[in-house]
Amino acid sequence: LSDRLGNVFDRLKGRGALSESDVREAMREIRIALLEADVALPVVRRFIDAVTEKAIGQDVLKSVTPGQQVVKIVDDELVDMLGGTEVEGLNFAAKPPVVIMMVGLQGSGKTTTTAKLGKLIRQKHGKKALMASLDVNRPAAQEQLKVLGEQVEVATLPIIEGQQPVDIARRAMESAKLQAADVLLLDTAGRLHVDEALMAEMKAIAGVSTPTEVLLVVDSLTGQDAVNVAQSFTGEVPLTGVVLTRMDGDARGGAALSMRYVTGKPIKFAGTGEKLDAIEAFDPRRVAGRILGMGDVVSLVEKAAESIKQDEAEALAKKMAQGQFDLDDLRMQLKQMQNMGGLGMLAGMLPGMKKAKAAMAASNMDDRVLLHMDAIIGSMTPKERTKPALLNAKRKKRVAAGSGTDVQTVNKVLKMHQEMGRAMKQIKKMGGMKGLGALFG
Ligand code: GDP
Ligand code: MG
Repeated sequence: LSDRLGNVFDRLKGRGALSESDVREAMREIRIALLEADVALPVVRRFIDAVTEKAIGQDVLKSVTPGQQVVKIVDDELVDMLGGTEVEGLNFAAKPPVVIMMVGLQGSGKTTTTAKLGKLIRQKHGKKALMASLDVNRPAAQEQLKVLGEQVEVATLPIIEGQQPVDIARRAMESAKLQAADVLLLDTAGRLHVDEALMAEMKAIAGVSTPTEVLLVVDSLTGQDAVNVAQSFTGEVPLTGVVLTRMDGDARGGAALSMRYVTGKPIKFAGTGEKLDAIEAFDPRRVAGRILGMGDVVSLVEKAAESIKQDEAEALAKKMAQGQFDLDDLRMQLKQMQNMGGLGMLAGMLPGMKKAKAAMAASNMDDRVLLHMDAIIGSMTPKERTKPALLNAKRKKRVAAGSGTDVQTVNKVLKMHQEMGRAMKQIKKMGGMKGLGALFG
């Protein structure tokens, strides 16, 4: 999307107000981008309509470019459609045991999420939970939950072979009451596809357990399929929320936007890995950023506008885009980063920076090295700064001596420069710097 937005911004540059044709043109690109991010067509339509209506005729604020303004409107609307800024947690407002029922297709992550929630409920909410598997379809499904229960230290209902799901649900209710459990988590069976038998089973289980929460668990990587699944469940069982699993994968976030629209229910959690603490409250802001594909570009722009001089930034963006990023640039970049709140913060916002940051951590790059960096680069000849390959062992020793450091630290700086150059290229590939360049301009 950033590539497209970059082009849109170029065209929008230097306008005073957002005209209808400006906005419509921008929306054409955004429409394609959303479809590429796996957002369902009806959702895309509604989204584009909403943004168009808001954007047309809006005066462009003096302090920002039309491009920035469109990004902001698109971002705001995405966040809004994803559920706004208020996080919706689990609803415990019922007579205990509060029943939380998990539904979804086979392999979507129900059992794992059940255990994750069990742990969360015990640790974060300090409540006593009981977990029960009603999955009699898959061999060892009940055993799987039992093992997970031991890992997260949450009790599971003892397994009785041959018992049917509805009977297990009844027994789980009784057992939860007897144990004075606050919460009962019901992990149900899925199917490979949505079918009538599955829906009938879910209805029957809901009938005997009157759940306070019915959470639809969907795999965010399945994109359009996830939307169809959500559609099938909606109206059949009284859903109260959605859990999107595998958000640690390379899902582009489109499923989230569709899911919210199709079910009309809040996305409550995002599963972010196989480990049992890999679950997070769903964050619309982050996912909106992911759909836009530019990291948290909006706040980056806001910060950048404050602290970077526009011409400096443009020159740097141009150099980076051409793949020329020498040690002098690194030095300047570091100064700007410091103005913008430090390395860590910037790394968190720019997609490509994460890699550079990880590389830094891997090479033991710490604040001390950062402090020396200026002196080290300062001790090199101008030629070496533009062409670090010139630095042989002897010269490295001299530079180390000149900067009061050692060869190891000099090597670290050179490694960091290499990694950042690589990250910049990656950003360029994603069109990010182009977008940024246009935003600054
Ligand atoms: P179920 O059939 O719906 O009960 O699915 P399971 O809970 O058994 O999960 C199926 C597989 O998906 C398991 O290997 C889980 O470890 C994995 N899984 C579940 N949630 C996540 C997640 O958020 N991220 C990743 N990477 N894997 C997950
Ligand atoms: Mg399961």
